[in-house]
Amino acid sequence: MEMKLRVDPVACDGFGHCAELAPEFISLDEWGYPIISPMPFDRSYQKIAEMAVNQCPRRALLLERLETAVRHKPIRRRV
Ligand code: SF4
Repeated sequence: MEMKLRVDPVACDGFGHCAELAPEFISLDEWGYPIISPMPFDRSYQKIAEMAVNQCPRRALLLERLETAVRHKPIRRRV
């Protein structure tokens, strides 16, 4: 399962604590607000992302689990 981080820009205080905790996904703009990587990541980074979410003082970070597309086999008609 792939995941992505999202930030609520209204709730965020812009002190940039999250970028120190999860530099793999988060950098800061010139005012200190987080820039979240648009690339999804896999479970190997989940603990780092969860730590950033749990330690955000404004609860402005969200860990979003991306649904994997399920492909169905085509139905074959009997002739
Ligand atoms: S830790 Fe939370 S409040 Fe602080 S900059 Fe990051 S998202 Fe914003």
